[in-house]
Amino acid sequence: MFESLEMTHPDPILTLSEHFMNDTNPRKVDLGIGLYKDKYGDTPVMESVRIAESFVVDSAMDKIYKGSSGLDGFCDVISWLLFRERSSLIENGRVLSIQTIGGTGAVRLAAEFLKQIDPDKGVWVSDPTWGNHIDIFLHLGMKVSCYPYQSGGGGLNFPIMLESIRKIPEGDVIILHGCGHNPTGYDLSKCQWHAVLEVVKERGLFPVIDMAYHGLANGLCDDIYCVELFSDHLDEMFVAYSCSKNFGLYRDRVGALVVLGKNRDSCVKAKLHLSRLARVSISSPAIHGALIVSEILSSPELNRVWVEELSRMSLRVKFARGMLIKEACKQGCDDAFRNVSNGVGLFSLIPVGREDVDVLREEFCIYMLDSGRINLSGVNDDNVGYIVSSIKALLG
Ligand code: PMP
Repeated sequence: MFESLEMTHPDPILTLSEHFMNDTNPRKVDLGIGLYKDKYGDTPVMESVRIAESFVVDSAMDKIYKGSSGLDGFCDVISWLLFRERSSLIENGRVLSIQTIGGTGAVRLAAEFLKQIDPDKGVWVSDPTWGNHIDIFLHLGMKVSCYPYQSGGGGLNFPIMLESIRKIPEGDVIILHGCGHNPTGYDLSKCQWHAVLEVVKERGLFPVIDMAYHGLANGLCDDIYCVELFSDHLDEMFVAYSCSKNFGLYRDRVGALVVLGKNRDSCVKAKLHLSRLARVSISSPAIHGALIVSEILSSPELNRVWVEELSRMSLRVKFARGMLIKEACKQGCDDAFRNVSNGVGLFSLIPVGREDVDVLREEFCIYMLDSGRINLSGVNDDNVGYIVSSIKALLG
């Protein structure tokens, strides 16, 4: 059976990381995988996580199974984190969460649920988007199409985006990046979110808001503007939430699928269906990281520490973005970094072709995704000049 398999390729992002680790050049720069890095290029365990984790370890009485929907306390704090300003939705049972294996698990569970409801439902993602959005839905046999997102010259092409989503067939699914769009870094303004909401209502689309960078774009409150807005005007939606970046819990695989329903009964039903789907794929999620997040979000003191840390991280990313733009101006190649000035959050796309990316990696030891996506937190005082001069040398 295995001999007849066609060759396939490993995941390009994870492979890139491996190549970077094995590169012995001291000048090497990692702008690849989406990890937050501090100014030393490290991704240390957050202080709030360290404290909560030691408490979790010390107070563990057992490690018995939890149910398929995960840790109730975790589900509650995530619902609260997103809907604290809309607490009546929680009180009225219109919001329920289910624990998932990171944000990927949340998107996957959403996809399985939507497929179960209607396998012929179309799914619409931004062009470009996080590659796994496309792969997950395609893998389940669903039809995936794109709505345009960025303009040729850089920046968000909102009129074209809106025009295109207005043509999406009624009842289809639309995936929206809640904040820190991956890979462009272009987020919608409040006014643009209102315009998208109108079209979503008009066409009866089902939104799945992917919230993988909460707190890392414009801060904890502003980053969930679309979630709050949509919940004020829609009966139903999903939010796929990841705790990987904002809690730095990448490999602990902590996330949630948050359900907004029309009423308590429909929400309970949706959560039961989701739990059954979870049962046949993962049985039950990993609890350790979820305990850490619940501890942080339910202790006022730890919550304060976390909020401060996260805002420092977000400031550092903003600072790195500014530093790159300033250096590009200094070296007279700001055009190549024009996209960087338009965005927020961890990512930006620089206008390099596939071959340029290979040259940057092989000759300059600068690692980025094939699409030209760079992780801005990989930029620091020591490497900013080198990054800009290398890209300038390449692009001429
Ligand atoms: N959605 C988007 C847009 C992402 O960029 C990522 C992480 N790269 C995820 C979801 C998944 O995150 P996790 O690592 O929590 O599975």
